[in-house]
Amino acid sequence: MKAIVQTGSEAVEVQEREQPTPGPDEVLVEVHSAGLCGSDVHAYKYDGGYEWIPIPRIMGHEYSGRVAEVGENVDQFEVGQKVIEEPIHDCGHCFQCKNGQENVCQNFSISGMHTDGAYADYTIVGERHLHAVPESVSLRDAAITEPTSIATRAVLDQSETTPGDDVLVEGPGPIGVLSAVVADSLGANVVVSGLDKDTSYRLPLLEDQGIDTVNVQDRDPETVVGEHTDGIGFDVVVDATGHRSGLESGLDYVRKGGQFVMVGIPNEEAEVFMAPAVRGEVEVNTSYGSKWRNFEQALRLMERDAIDVDAIVDTSYDADEPEEAFRAFLESETCKPVFTFGED
Ligand SMILES: [Zn+2]
Ligand SMILES: [Zn+2]
Repeated sequence: MKAIVQTGSEAVEVQEREQPTPGPDEVLVEVHSAGLCGSDVHAYKYDGGYEWIPIPRIMGHEYSGRVAEVGENVDQFEVGQKVIEEPIHDCGHCFQCKNGQENVCQNFSISGMHTDGAYADYTIVGERHLHAVPESVSLRDAAITEPTSIATRAVLDQSETTPGDDVLVEGPGPIGVLSAVVADSLGANVVVSGLDKDTSYRLPLLEDQGIDTVNVQDRDPETVVGEHTDGIGFDVVVDATGHRSGLESGLDYVRKGGQFVMVGIPNEEAEVFMAPAVRGEVEVNTSYGSKWRNFEQALRLMERDAIDVDAIVDTSYDADEPEEAFRAFLESETCKPVFTFGED
């Protein structure tokens, strides 16, 4: 089978690999579509925090496909069924897992990092990490269930966003875009902030969906707050920048009594003067990964056509030329590249 394999720092290549065989509790999935996200790009660059990943490694953790074969103990899925995987596997027995906080399991492993992933014609997954995809959701759309579940956790669980709220999402990467569309689906007034480099692809992508955007390289926080919230400040700010500036400037946009939720993981130490946030009793929260229900929320939003997945998924990159997609992502020329492996 064909597989996209990381072979070094900023080096990926297409290799021929042997098709894996499922163990008793495992499922062989024929991959249809597999997306590329910020963490894949960090891994690709072998950035700090990712250099432990053993290479060569078949990359890819967000994907959709069909069950091709099941192990002897598998009884929840059958051959031909449409599925997606929860790629962050909790251990099931640490304190957090037993305490209902499996998204912050102490011993998690991630497909495509700890084990071979889904940039391949076939991948293997334990039955308990699969979700069935509703019939009306296409496999192309279902490929972004995992990043959408990160957004449903951040917005629906970790923020208190309600209809009519003014919500600022900082950073128009995949998680920022998906957090914005999830908040928009609730009936919030959403603004997404970006930089000069986002004005060619990522901010227009949101504008096309009727979501306001602002380039914070030519607007200061006071002006943004004035223009979008009559000077009051945003009810909720979601930081999806993955950059220290998201935290450092983010608190300038929140209203007193509002909420700040970090979902992006800052690239380096940030310096924040917390006194105004304390005086304004700003609630500061974080969001990491997602839980079973967040995947189901994502699938149901897609089933209801509440998210214009077509506008977000970018299938213009070829799985035979994977380097192109990584390069374009780094240049902000795309938002959610998705490689196509199967047909249908
Ligand atoms: Zn991802
Ligand atoms: Zn655990």
